[in-house]
Amino acid sequence: MNQAERPSRRFWVNNTKGQKLRMANLGNPKNTIEIIQKHGFRFQKKFGQNFLIDTHVLDKIVAAAGVTKDDLVLEIGPGIGTMTQYLAEAAREVIAVEIDKNLIPILEETLSEYDNVTILNEDILKVDIAALAEEKNGGKPIKVVANLPYYITTPIIMGLFESKVPLENITIMVQKEVADRMQVGPGTKDYGALSLAVQFYAKPEIVANVPPNCFMPRPNVGSAVIRLTRYPESPVQVNDEKKMFMIIRASFNQRRKTLVNGLTNAGELNLSKEQVAAALAKMNLPETIRGEALTLEQFAELSNLIF
Ligand code: SAM
Repeated sequence: MNQAERPSRRFWVNNTKGQKLRMANLGNPKNTIEIIQKHGFRFQKKFGQNFLIDTHVLDKIVAAAGVTKDDLVLEIGPGIGTMTQYLAEAAREVIAVEIDKNLIPILEETLSEYDNVTILNEDILKVDIAALAEEKNGGKPIKVVANLPYYITTPIIMGLFESKVPLENITIMVQKEVADRMQVGPGTKDYGALSLAVQFYAKPEIVANVPPNCFMPRPNVGSAVIRLTRYPESPVQVNDEKKMFMIIRASFNQRRKTLVNGLTNAGELNLSKEQVAAALAKMNLPETIRGEALTLEQFAELSNLIF
């Protein structure tokens, strides 16, 4: 049975008067089309709008995030509210941040029966999420769940980690290739600054691969759901995080160069060949080694030796 034929599962929700109401499940493509047509909504490519229309994938995302009635969930980019409905059922409270003002009247309709959802019409990159977690969750760790707009995946993830938002996990749909980059280690072509940055803060696990036909409209690329479980403490000890990430970026900016050349060419680091070579010698690594061969532990050690 395909999606269109599957009987529409409906959500039961309590309204403010305590009455049980039935809501259409937007994970069913028929309901998504209906609401889009009703509001004359036009998809905007610049906002990365590809809405989920597969109930199995939606169930999988919420299960992977381990959402419970204790949780405050931040959803980035709710679209028409498809995943928000699932989250509202599972969580104590949901804050959904949507940039496109044309989606707000739709969200007000599709989520009208939930009293545990707050919709913010904002650009997520401008929201003070740490302040929000403090205000709404007393500073306790929150969960982030999103089918991300792919054009800003990296700034969103790095912003969440670097701003020290109290986080339990981030469960997100991203481009498949980006999910691979987050998960791999040295010796693979996908290994790079993003892999190291993510793995410094969190344990990455790909929980599902999702083909283009699970979205409306279909994206040109394959997607994957990845869960990033925040470490209470990073697995490596580093004296100066900022400097280590400068070293990492410089190593991968010039991927084909040796580490010694890559680091000495990076003006912001102000390092001599001798300094880098001496640190590598202490680590028993050859002077000809490239950055792509180093593990996170080795980058931390190198950074601690140099700075
Ligand atoms: N969550 C919905 C779903 O799964 O069907 C929609 C996902 S769609 C891939 C991405 C959503 O993020 C869109 O609704 C888009 O308008 C929104 N968005 C794009 N850039 C954003 C930003 N900077 N801040 C907040 N929302 C954004």
